[in-house]
Amino acid sequence: MKRFLYNITGGNPKALLEPCLVSLATGFCQIVPSLLIFAVFDTIYLAYARGQAMHMEKLWGICALLAGWMLVEYAARARAHEKTAMTAYHLSAIGRTELAEHLRKLPLGFFGRRDPATLTTMLLNDYSNVETTVSFYVPQLASAVILPVVVFLIMLLFSPQMALAMFLPLPLCFGIMWLSSGLQKKISGRHVRAREDCAGRLQEYLLGMREIKSHNLSGERFEALREAFARLKRESLRMEIMVVPIVLIAIAALRSGLTLMLLIGTFLLVGGELSLPIFLLFLLLGMRVVEPLSVALVHYAELRYTALSADRIMEIRQEPPLPGTGQAPCGGDIRFDRVSFAYRHTDVLQEVSFLAPAGRVTALVGPSGSGKSTITRLIARFWDVRQGTISLAGHDLATCDPESILARISMVFQDVYLFRDSIGNNIAVGRKNATRREVEEAAKKACCHDFIAALPQGYDTPVGEGGCTLSGGEKQRISIARALLKDAPIILLDEATASLDPENEIYVQRAINALVANKTVLIIAHRLRTIRRADWIVVLDHGRVIEQGTHEQLLAETGLYQHLWTLQGRSAGWSMRPA
Ligand code: ADP
Repeated sequence: MKRFLYNITGGNPKALLEPCLVSLATGFCQIVPSLLIFAVFDTIYLAYARGQAMHMEKLWGICALLAGWMLVEYAARARAHEKTAMTAYHLSAIGRTELAEHLRKLPLGFFGRRDPATLTTMLLNDYSNVETTVSFYVPQLASAVILPVVVFLIMLLFSPQMALAMFLPLPLCFGIMWLSSGLQKKISGRHVRAREDCAGRLQEYLLGMREIKSHNLSGERFEALREAFARLKRESLRMEIMVVPIVLIAIAALRSGLTLMLLIGTFLLVGGELSLPIFLLFLLLGMRVVEPLSVALVHYAELRYTALSADRIMEIRQEPPLPGTGQAPCGGDIRFDRVSFAYRHTDVLQEVSFLAPAGRVTALVGPSGSGKSTITRLIARFWDVRQGTISLAGHDLATCDPESILARISMVFQDVYLFRDSIGNNIAVGRKNATRREVEEAAKKACCHDFIAALPQGYDTPVGEGGCTLSGGEKQRISIARALLKDAPIILLDEATASLDPENEIYVQRAINALVANKTVLIIAHRLRTIRRADWIVVLDHGRVIEQGTHEQLLAETGLYQHLWTLQGRSAGWSMRPA
């Protein structure tokens, strides 16, 4: 329970104290009318029993109190609602933001292990469950547990037999809930997994719509989605069929206390050991207690479900972010010293050593899958190396704050992601608080000002999700404009021009030339002619550095570089001919 409260409050269980106290106060407010009704009945009964005149002033006084109390009860309920809702939404807003912030600091390997749909579900659904738990379930449960204790004590004063009869089945009903909690946990777990699977399948179906249509896969992919929905239906029904009856049995056991109390009360009444007003008081109090307790039992079952959400949230929050606190130097040589790395089990880089000197262009070449992109990701510290060191100006990157490393680096990839925002703001991603003039300057250098200015709303033109309204070359130039604006000392270019048509390639090349002037550049290129003027070329094969040197030096050797160069020379003359 302690861990559960810790988890749902994001490590701050004290935040629940106020909602619980307010809910408890509301619970007590609800008992008062029962006591006042009892007082009315008692006054009338006494007058009849003794054959005396009715004490009208007292009766009016109690009625006025009852009417006034309605206002108090309304105010207490409204306050409780406001307080609990505020705490719940506040906690989950903070929790969501902290989790999103925490995710940003995790190594990218974490995201390879997790389905993005699961993370989205977690940020939205799991926190919604926590919201409901904090705002309703926990405060109601707290008051449903404390209130009966107080009522039991009041009842004991008037009739111990009736009090015991009323609360006799309570241990039985808690026992049922406790014994069934394992089953509830298991079924809830299956339901959560089925829901996650649905989210994942749905996301895959929507994102892969282009492939589904072009390869006519609608049958198979839809079948997978249909099966995920069917599984969710089965698990939802399983929950209804197996968990709800247990709760209903526990509620029935609880209510049997009321019947038992009635029986004992009637017996005592007939035997003259109990007065009618006290009998009525027990009925009123009994009903006041049974209702919130029944609701609490239902909520207790729901808490099992929320406990899973809270566990999942905490599991992610406990994922260790990349260590390192030192500030990365502002530029300098990048040195790989016997670096080995594996994403999972198989080594992708083995004993890689090379130097990318400050202010020079170093090119990485090699067959696909040889580890070129991995090298750039390790420099940006998306992952940490398994062995060896990567240093920047002599500082081991593993000791530097990952954010300070990213501040020194601009990356231009082949796949450019544009945010759902205006083009101007997409460029301004490069530098916070950049002025419109700076954005335009960067766009001009990146050869994208002209096509942006020709758009209907210019720099304010919105970009569709993923930037689908722009061509590959245009997106590429926007990403170069971002990098120009950022003006970082290190530039990582990964296949930046590989998939462009000749016209766009010229523009992008021009933009890159503007970007890389006087910077430490690491460039990956499939087309060797684009990097032949690089200061240093590192040739990789199967995760190892097999050659390095200038273009001329490497051509003079009969190695992989010379082989690739010759192959590319031949393929330049390739054209499609009918057989
Ligand atoms: P290159 O850029 O030379 O084409 P990469 O560095 O992208 O090569 O990939 C090197 C190897 O690492 C490949 O076998 C690839 O399948 C694997 N790899 C790349 N990214 C990941 C990843 N996120 N998780 C697991 N394996 C990966």
